[in-house]
Amino acid sequence: MQALTNRSKVVSNKKMSFLEKIYLPAIVKGMFITIKHFFGKKATISYPEQKREFSKVYRGLHVLKRDDEGRERCTACGLCAVACPAEAITITAAERKPDEKHLYREEKYAAIFEINMLRCIFCGDCEEACPKEAIFLTDRIVKAEYEREPFIYGKDILVEPIDKDKRIDVSDRQTENVLKFKTDKHYAHNK
Ligand code: SF4
Ligand code: SF4
Repeated sequence: MQALTNRSKVVSNKKMSFLEKIYLPAIVKGMFITIKHFFGKKATISYPEQKREFSKVYRGLHVLKRDDEGRERCTACGLCAVACPAEAITITAAERKPDEKHLYREEKYAAIFEINMLRCIFCGDCEEACPKEAIFLTDRIVKAEYEREPFIYGKDILVEPIDKDKRIDVSDRQTENVLKFKTDKHYAHNK
C-alpha cells in the first residue's frame, strides 16, 4: 500500500551493539542537550518579580469606570450580560435615590454587578456592547485562587477607585474606531 506521507519509519529488530546496550551514548547525548539549554535564551521568567510586557490591547481583568465627577457610569442596562457568550455577568438593577446623584450617573444603577471569572473567556464582547463606556477590560491579571468562590468578582473589585489619581487608565483601548462606534449617532445604540 502506498504511504500517505514520508514520515513513517521501518522498525527493525536488529541486535543492539554493546554501547547501545549500556545506553551511554544516548545518556551523553541527552546531557548535552540539557546543558545546551543552560546557556540558551530562557523560555520562562521569574514571575511575579519579573513581568512580561503585554500588548496595549491585552484583555485582562475588567474595570467598571466612573465619570469625571466620580459617579458610576454603569446604568444596569444589561447589554453586556446579554452579549456575554459565557453568561458570566450577573446584574441586579436599582433605582437611584435623590440623594445619590453624586454616586450614580443615571437614574438606574447596578446594585449588584458580578462577573464569574471562571466562566469569562476575556473576549471583550461586554466592552463592545456597553453604550455607556462603563466596562473595559484592562491589562491587569485575575489572581490565582485555591477556591472557586473568590472568582466571583463583585463591585468592590470591579469599580475603579473614586480618587482620580488611582483611576484605571483605559485610553489605549479607546481607539478612534471604538470611540466612533460608541458616539456616532447613526448607530441605533447611540440614539
Ligand atoms: S470578556 Fe467576554 S466572557 Fe468575559 S464577561 Fe465580557 S463578554 Fe463575558
Ligand atoms: S456595564 Fe454597560 S452594558 Fe453593562 S449593564 Fe452597565 S451600562 Fe449596561
